[in-house]
Formats: sequence, C-alpha cells, structure tokens
Amino acid sequence: MSDVLKGAIDCDVHPSVPGLQALVPYLDDYWRDSVDIRGMEGFESRAYPPLLSASSRPDWRRGAIRAAESVELLCEDVLDRWALSGAILNCLYGVQQIHDERLAAALCSAVNSWLVEQWLNKEPRLAASIVVPPQNPALAVEEIERRADDRRFVQVLLPAMHDLPYGRHYWWPIYRAAERLGMPIGLHIGSAYRTAVTAVGWPSYHVEDYIDQTQGMQAQLASLISHGVFVEFPELRVVLIESGVSWLPAFCWRFGKFWRGVRIEIPWVDRAPIDIVREHVRMTLQPLDAPEDPDILEKLFEQLGSDEMLLFSSDYPHWRFDGDEVIPKDLPPPILNASLLKNPGETYPRLGGVR
Ligand code: ZN
Repeated sequence: MSDVLKGAIDCDVHPSVPGLQALVPYLDDYWRDSVDIRGMEGFESRAYPPLLSASSRPDWRRGAIRAAESVELLCEDVLDRWALSGAILNCLYGVQQIHDERLAAALCSAVNSWLVEQWLNKEPRLAASIVVPPQNPALAVEEIERRADDRRFVQVLLPAMHDLPYGRHYWWPIYRAAERLGMPIGLHIGSAYRTAVTAVGWPSYHVEDYIDQTQGMQAQLASLISHGVFVEFPELRVVLIESGVSWLPAFCWRFGKFWRGVRIEIPWVDRAPIDIVREHVRMTLQPLDAPEDPDILEKLFEQLGSDEMLLFSSDYPHWRFDGDEVIPKDLPPPILNASLLKNPGETYPRLGGVR
C-alpha cells in the first residue's frame, strides 16, 4: 500500500482542537475574557462528538478522548505511514455554529493562528484550509485576506450547510476573494444546525444526519450552478469534501434533463450542468460510497467522464476504513493515479508554493 501512495497528497485530514483553552492564547484580551465570562469551556462541534465511534478509529485514539491532537500523531498515522508528500488540514471545530458572528470571527482567527503555530510551523509537509465565519461574509473575507500571504493556506473551508444556499449573492464576496487568491472553496460535510439538515425535517440519529449530508451537498451544487456562480467566477473551484461520490452522475443527469427543458429561467447558465461540474467541482475520495465491484466503479467514473475530479483523502482520524485499506479496492488505476498528486496539484495551485 505504501508504494502506491508514495508522494501523494491527502486532501482531507482533521487536526483536533484539544479544547477551547488551546485557542485562548490566540485571542485578544477582550475575547479571552469573553469566552471565560460566557462559560464556553467544553464547547465542541455538534457534528463530531469526540467519543463517537465514527469520529475516530480506535487505534488512532490511543485511549485518549480525541485522536489527531498533535503533529507527531498525524505524521505517524498518516504522513510517514503512507510516505505522503503532503496533507491538507481541515479543522472542524464547530465555530460556524456560534450565533454571535463577532465571537465566531475571533474564534476562526484563533483556530487559524493555532494551525500556524501548532501544525504548519512544525511540519513542512502540511498545508491548511482557512477557517472562516460564514455567519458574516465580510468578516470571512477579512480572515481570508489576513491569511493570504501565508501560502500554506490553500483553501477556504465552509460547512456543507449554513443559513442560506451557497448560490445566493450573499456569499459572493467570499468567492471573489477565493478566486482572486487562487483558493478553491472546500465544502466539508457539516451544518450550522440552525435549520434541519434534511428537506423533510430534523433527523433523530447520527446515522441519519451523516447520510443526509449528501442531500445538502446536492442542494448546494444545484444552487451554485443555478445562480451562475461559475459564470461570475470562471476560475473558481469547489471541492466537495467527504460528500461521497456515487450520487453525482445521477444528480447531473437529472439536473441536465430539467435544465434543457426550463433553461429560459436561468439563461446565464450557458452549458449543461455536467460540463460545469467537470470543470469546477472536485470531490475527495473517502468515504467512497460505491460497491467494491470493478465494473460498477468503472461505470461510475465513465459516467462522470473525467479523471480530474477525484482527490485522494483518508479523512483521518474519522473511521472510514480498517488497517491500511485507505484506497477502495478495484478503483480504476487511471482514476486512482490522477487522484494522488496530479489532481490535488491542479486543484490547489498554492500547494506549489510550499513544495
Ligand atoms: Zn473529512
């Protein structure tokens, strides 16, 4: 396994914030007092409770509450284990769920400073996504620009679901900044949890929430394309992270069929959705939601009609596979090979600046 992956870039790994106290040194005096007065100690993301089995493989937890709490562990479990040339840190700490947009912005900035000091400065193979507050796009743009000179930040990270569909003009300042700076938008599964994560209401179980995230990804992709985001921002790419892959061909077929019938409604969409998706959308590998059948896998990627869309990812430390089976069996070799280094390099142009 390690030979296949040698030199690859892992496009979705998750460093764990040990707790709010780890971020306090990166807050100014006002926010330091504020998180104390508000009694926020114990704040955690609602999407990935640390003790949930899916939140971490047991062997990566090493008896602790959280896995992936240090660079040393990440190197041992991922970078050195598979001889990778790099990995992109997507920090999921739930700051997008906070209602106070100023507090959210302060904590996002603290998370990014923590990533610089505790991760990027300690390991040259690492890059990171900028954590931004979707609660306020103007503050999100400020944070993107604050980090822009540090080319180890290669992507802008947003949860799959927030207050409004991502095609709406409300979000466009974020896309404008990302496009200008050569960063894709990474949509990682997750939500602000202010509205139900399904179209029919609130799920009751984690398993429902997790599989329903695909609905959110589909709705966002339909919104981005229908509102003409990729017409306004022709260089912008969107990476669907941890979204699964197998739903995309059927989604594009259905979208294309109805677009042909009612495209007078959205005349700025001047190409079939599948063509827009092939150019602008990328997806990470884990979890690959398809049977381990070479014929079906081959058919799936044949329908997508592109070997440029898949990006290798382990989703470390989330429990997506056992042992070293990070590459799904019988993934067609051209698709696998392109996903390891070529596609990440093309999707994240700023990676060239750090290696
Ligand atoms: Zn992930």
